[in-house]
Amino acid sequence: MPDYKAPLREIQFVMNEVLESEKHYASLPGCEDATPDMVNAIIEEGAKFAERVLAPLNQVGDQEGCQFNNGDVKTPTGFKEAYQQYVEGGWPSLSHDPAHGGQGLPESIGTIISEMVGTANWSWGMYPGLSHGAMNTLSEHGTDEQKAVYLTKLVSGEWTGTMCLTESHCGTDLGLLRTKAEPQADGSYKISGSKIFISAGEHDMAENIIHIVLARLPDAPAGTKGISLFIVPKFMPQGDAVGARNGVVCGSIEHKMGIHGNATCVLNFDDATGYLIGPPNKGLNCMFTFMNTARLGTALQGLAHAEWGFQNSLPYAKDRLQMRSLTGAKNTEGAADPIIVHPAIRNMLLTQKAFAEGGRALIYFCAQLVDKAKLAGADEKLEADALLAFLTPIAKAFLTETGFESANHGVQVYGGHGYIAEWGMEQNVRDARISMLYEGTTQIQALDLLGRKVLMSQGESLKGFTKIVHKFCKEHANNDAMKPFVEPLATLNQEWGELTMKVGMKAMQDREEVGAAAVDYLMYSGYVTLAYFWARMAQQAQLALDQGTAEEAFYKAKLTTARFYFARLLPRTRAHAEIMQSGADSLMALDAEHFAF
Ligand SMILES: Cc1cc2nc3c(=O)[nH]c(=O)nc-3n(C[C@H](O)[C@H](O)[C@H](O)COP(=O)(O)OP(=O)(O)OC[C@H]3O[C@@H](n4cnc5c(N)ncnc54)[C@H](O)[C@@H]3O)c2cc1C
Repeated sequence: MPDYKAPLREIQFVMNEVLESEKHYASLPGCEDATPDMVNAIIEEGAKFAERVLAPLNQVGDQEGCQFNNGDVKTPTGFKEAYQQYVEGGWPSLSHDPAHGGQGLPESIGTIISEMVGTANWSWGMYPGLSHGAMNTLSEHGTDEQKAVYLTKLVSGEWTGTMCLTESHCGTDLGLLRTKAEPQADGSYKISGSKIFISAGEHDMAENIIHIVLARLPDAPAGTKGISLFIVPKFMPQGDAVGARNGVVCGSIEHKMGIHGNATCVLNFDDATGYLIGPPNKGLNCMFTFMNTARLGTALQGLAHAEWGFQNSLPYAKDRLQMRSLTGAKNTEGAADPIIVHPAIRNMLLTQKAFAEGGRALIYFCAQLVDKAKLAGADEKLEADALLAFLTPIAKAFLTETGFESANHGVQVYGGHGYIAEWGMEQNVRDARISMLYEGTTQIQALDLLGRKVLMSQGESLKGFTKIVHKFCKEHANNDAMKPFVEPLATLNQEWGELTMKVGMKAMQDREEVGAAAVDYLMYSGYVTLAYFWARMAQQAQLALDQGTAEEAFYKAKLTTARFYFARLLPRTRAHAEIMQSGADSLMALDAEHFAF
C-alpha cells in the first residue's frame, strides 16, 4: 500500500534554517503570534490530519471517482467526512482576516499545510484549494457586503468556492469568452452561458458553492478588455443560511486521466443571479488574484507528486532484490541485491529527492514573498510583488514538469509493478499530468516569463532575482567548502542575463523567436533558480556541520544531494541554452499542410 509521511524535518529545515522564518515573521506587522512553537504545533497537527485522514483516501478517490446523478455529484467514500473534520479543525480559516472569522496567520504557514494536504491526496486538496483562491479574490476585490455574506462562509469552510474561466471554445485565450451578464434593476446581473472543466464545480461536501465567474457585460469591448468578474452562488444566501436554488447547474462531469476524486464539471448558467466583483470590464485583473493563488498552488502540486513519488519509491528500492551490484554482491545472504545498489536506480531516487527538496525551498520562498506583499511596508511590498511576478511562472511550470518527471521515475523504480494500480505509482503519474495543463500550460507560463515579465521589463524583472543570486555568490566566494556550488552558480547567473540579451535581440527582428525560445528559457531559468536554493541549503548544512551537530547524517545527506543536483541535473541547462539560441527557422519552415503527406 502506498503511504504518506509528512516530511517534518525537511519542512523545518527549509522554514526555520534556510529561510529563517522566525526573523521573517518578527519583521512583519500582525505576525507576532507566529512564534516558532506555535508554527511547529500547527504544522504537526496538519501533518497528522494529512497522514491519518487524507492519505488513506487517496487510492479510494482514484478508484471510485466522483459520481454524477442528474445534476448532483457524489464525491468518493470518506471525502465528505474528511472535509467535515477539516472544517471542525478550523483549517480553512488559517491565513484569512480575523475580521471575517479568520485566524490571521501568514499565508506561508497555510502553504505548508497545503503541501501536506496536497501530497497526501491532491484530488481532495483541490476542494479547499479552490476555496482559498475564491477567498483571496473576495478579500482583495469584494465589497464590504460581499465579504460579510460570502467571505465569512468561505472562511468558516461552510461553503466552498470555484474558479470559472474556461468555455468550450476558450481556454488559453480568454478574450474569446462568451458568457453574458445582463444588468438588472436591483443592481444584480443575470449570468448565462456554459463553463467547462470547472474543478470542484459541484459536490456534496458543503452546503453551498460560490462560483467566481468571468462574463461579459452587454456593451463590453471585444477581447480581454471586456471581461468582468461575478459572484454566482449555487444557493442564494438567506440570512445566515441558504435559500432558493440559483440558475446554475452541473450538466455533467468529465471522465479523465487522473485526479478522479475531484469533480471536473460542465456548469450551465441560465439567468443565474450574480454580483459584480470589482469594476466593470476589469474582471481579468481581479481574477489574476485567483489565478496567482492557483498558480502557486499548482507549483505545490509539482512538489507534491515529486515528494510522494520519492517517499514511495525509496522503501521499494531498498526492499526489491534484483541482480547484483556491479562491484560485487552487497547482500551476500540474499539471492540478489536490493535495487538501490544500482547507479541508475539511485539516479532516479536522487532526482525525485532533489526536485522535491529544491522545489520546497523555492515554494516556501515564494510564500514568504506573498506574506511580504500583503503585510510589509511600501518599498518591501513593491519589491516582493515584482519578485513574485517573476518567480511564479518558473515555480508553476518548472516544478510541475519536474514533478511529473519524478512521478514517472516512481513507475520506473518499481519496474512492471509500477504499471500496476495496486502500488499507486501509475496513479501518481496520472494525477501529476494535469498540473502542466491547468492554470496556464507550460508553454503559456514560458511566454509569460520571457515575453511579459522579462523582455517587456527590459530584463529588469530578471535582474531583481539575479542580483540576489549574485549577492549570495559573492558572500560565499571565499568559502572553500562552498566553491563547488558558488562557482557554477555565479557562471550560470551571468549567462542567464547574456542569453536573455541574445534572445531579446533576435526577438526584435522576429517575434517568433520569443515563442521558439520560451519553453527552453523557462526550463533553463528553473534549473538555475533551483541551483540557487540548493546552494543555500548546502551552505546551511555546511554551517551546521562546521558548528557541530547531533544530526550529522541529516546535514551530510543534504550536502550530498546538493552535489548530486549540481553534478547531474544542473548540466541540463547546457541543452536548454543551445536550443533556445537555435532560432525559430527550423520550427517555422514547414507549412501547416506539409506536416504530413
Ligand atoms: C482536470 C481539469 C481541471 C480544470 N479546472 C479548471 C477550473 O477549475 N477552472 C477553469 O476555468 N478551468 C479549468 N480547467 C481548464 C484549463 O485551465 C484549460 O484546459 C487550460 O487553460 C488550457 O486550455 P485548453 O484546454 O482550452 O487548451 P488550448 O488553449 O486550446 O491550448 C491547446 C494547446 O495550445 C497551446 N497554446 C495555446 N496558445 C498558445 C500560444 N500562444 N503559444 C504556444 N502554445 C499555445 C497550449 O499550451 C496547449 O498545448 C481545467 C482543465 C482540466 C483538464
